[in-house]
Amino acid sequence: MKHPGWVWMDGELRSARVATVSVASHALHYGSSVFEGIRVYATPSGPAVLGLREHLRRFLRSAHVFKLQIPYDEEQLAFAVIATLAANELDAAYVRPIAFRGAGSFHLDGRRHPVHVSVLAFPWGEYLGEDTIEQGVDVVITSWRRPAPGSYPLLAKVGGNYVASQLIAMEARDRGAHEGIALDANGMVSEGSGENVFAVVDGTVYTPPVSCSILDGITRRFVMQLLAELGEPVREAAIPREMLEVADEIFLTGTAAEITPVRSLDGRPVSGGRRGPLTTRLQRAFYAIVQGDVPDRFGWLSPAGRPRLMRVAGAVEAYG
Ligand code: PMP
Repeated sequence: MKHPGWVWMDGELRSARVATVSVASHALHYGSSVFEGIRVYATPSGPAVLGLREHLRRFLRSAHVFKLQIPYDEEQLAFAVIATLAANELDAAYVRPIAFRGAGSFHLDGRRHPVHVSVLAFPWGEYLGEDTIEQGVDVVITSWRRPAPGSYPLLAKVGGNYVASQLIAMEARDRGAHEGIALDANGMVSEGSGENVFAVVDGTVYTPPVSCSILDGITRRFVMQLLAELGEPVREAAIPREMLEVADEIFLTGTAAEITPVRSLDGRPVSGGRRGPLTTRLQRAFYAIVQGDVPDRFGWLSPAGRPRLMRVAGAVEAYG
């Protein structure tokens, strides 16, 4: 039987067979978890983690907002990520750190419950389906909307927030699309179930601001850096849905979805049903960096090979 792999849990690597949780876990009942999704790319000089610092910082900030005490610092968590990749001998992977409230009572204030921290790593291809990075995806605007500001901490990546995302993703698939884009409580374009949205209209690139109920995506920020360098600075502005309908190009960004072109919106072709020219230029520039074909001029990548293990020796002690 194939070994189920190694999971980092509460300070040590464990076989996935034994890294299990109680059915009484607070997080299972009430969504009291915070998590991250991180991609690791195979490069000529070994595996490289994209945005490790940025993701771990967001992880710790999500925990702060949700009043969840994570007993590890950024360096120890970085070590946990690297150790999990090494143990599973992965060169290209998706990494999922998660911190959650365990079993205790069934009171909604679970702050007295133990906090468990785990890191999973596994291979994961194109999130929205085979060939979608090149061919693009069919998208619908869903009837489910993103929660209003002040109802959920949407800038924090909290498990419970993802009820809205699940409804958006399920509705989209039921309507024959790959993904759904949701409007915010004011009817402005917000984001996909797990991606930020960009639209090119009359030669200007737009993306919704954080006030439109989005997650402040790390890929979104990287893409904004790249587009500025390509001479196409992005305008963060509230986007009415009809502006999406007349867009020359639309693309989605996210760690899992990377940069995915939208080829149709509500059944009508976008950019002639093909990947648009700016999306193509942007993808080229992005993949050249993350796959190590050109120098990492923005400092996005962290090497995940053995040498890095030695360099985080401070955290090795905490781990060992
Ligand atoms: N929005 C939501 C709701 C998400 O879950 C994600 C994925 N983390 C994103 C946007 C994209 O964020 P990132 O680029 O940091 O993965």
